[in-house]
Amino acid sequence: MTLRELSLAKQHELRVEVLPDKKLTVGLRRGDAEIFGAQIGLGEKVTIHGQKIAIFTYGGCLLELDGDAEVMYTSEETPMEAYINVHNVFENQRTKAQSNGGQGPRVMVVGPTDSGKSTLCRILINYALRLGWSPTFVDLDIGQGSIAPPGTIAATPVQLPVTVEDGYPLDVPLVFYFGHTTPVQNANLYKFQVERMATLLDRRANRHPTVAASGMLVNTMGWVEGLGYELILHAIKALKVDNVLVVGQERLHSQLESDLRQARNPRIQVLRLPKSGGVVTRSPETRRADRASRVRDYFYGVPRTLMPHSETIQSTELNIYRVGGGRQAQSSIRPAGTASLMNPLKITPVRVGNEISNCLLGVSHARTAEEILSVSVAGFIFIQRVDVRDDGEGTVTYLAPGPGSLPGRYLLLGSIEILNFT
Ligand code: ADP
Repeated sequence: MTLRELSLAKQHELRVEVLPDKKLTVGLRRGDAEIFGAQIGLGEKVTIHGQKIAIFTYGGCLLELDGDAEVMYTSEETPMEAYINVHNVFENQRTKAQSNGGQGPRVMVVGPTDSGKSTLCRILINYALRLGWSPTFVDLDIGQGSIAPPGTIAATPVQLPVTVEDGYPLDVPLVFYFGHTTPVQNANLYKFQVERMATLLDRRANRHPTVAASGMLVNTMGWVEGLGYELILHAIKALKVDNVLVVGQERLHSQLESDLRQARNPRIQVLRLPKSGGVVTRSPETRRADRASRVRDYFYGVPRTLMPHSETIQSTELNIYRVGGGRQAQSSIRPAGTASLMNPLKITPVRVGNEISNCLLGVSHARTAEEILSVSVAGFIFIQRVDVRDDGEGTVTYLAPGPGSLPGRYLLLGSIEILNFT
């Protein structure tokens, strides 16, 4: 362990990467400092582990660092000024919305994978919180969810700063289990769930003027071509987005501007923002490992303070369903030129067998099987072990966040499977 002081000049940031098995404590001795928009108080200490972050200062500061960082360097080239400028634009829109009882900015952040989209959402949410707003964070990134495990689309109102230690508050998230980490598996279901989410969020905004005025920040997947692009356009329309922020890619920016203009939607502003040089690119392996670790986070917490509960029940007690044809619906494995004969929104019961081992299942709020499609999930279970005979009878052991009966009787299966879970 090494304890040292570091002074950061104004408008500079300290970029730090700390490995999962190491930790670094950062304290603020003098001046101002923030991590992705969340302020560090004078004398406060923040612990970082398994993260890549930047500590930014507006007016300069003196930091106290204790611990081990894999990477640590200072940079004066940050996009923070541009980020503050858009924040000011949104602030005006919120104030105006509040005075006339209208809707505040609905902002969508788009860009390729690893362009800093989630980070930008977080910064803008934290800035809005600092001024007393309570924006809604909507995460459409099924590959790497910030609110719920991978394979979900989710939304949550944010009332407390999003910090490196606590992440997003998970009090009342609205979560739909899409069940896959790419929309190719069932693009119709993805669209259906985005529309459903939009309807529920509109209802909430209509009931609470402050929620409406605070607006939304929508994070998206990094797939910005072909079907990925089509889904961005679909989500802009469904969620009534009025500000699109494009991180980096000039081509995506001009394509969106021209397509939205052609769709005669002049009320939508499309702005391009620079990508931060600090954003770290992840390899497909790291991405896979991150996904598994997000599922572990759900059950064990961050830090690992939760006590999940393992339960063994008769297989006949489980009502498992899947939407569409699951893995078989994947267009890439169909013979060229043939359309899928499966109805992508059809709900089919799944017979309990070994293929559900190591799978993540959503526990639906549905009261009937027909409702599964249109309602959100209450939580998740992870199937640890299946001991069934050929006729499907036997036992199933699953991990749940806590003891007791499940919060719903219908379970939703997708294709999210985590090997080497523990
Ligand atoms: P995306 O959402 O586009 O995939 P992220 O916002 O998740 O990208 O950023 C990728 C990684 O880079 C994350 O681990 C994030 O914490 C890190 N990161 C982002 N901005 C910075 C920065 N300025 N300095 C250091 N790390 C950063």
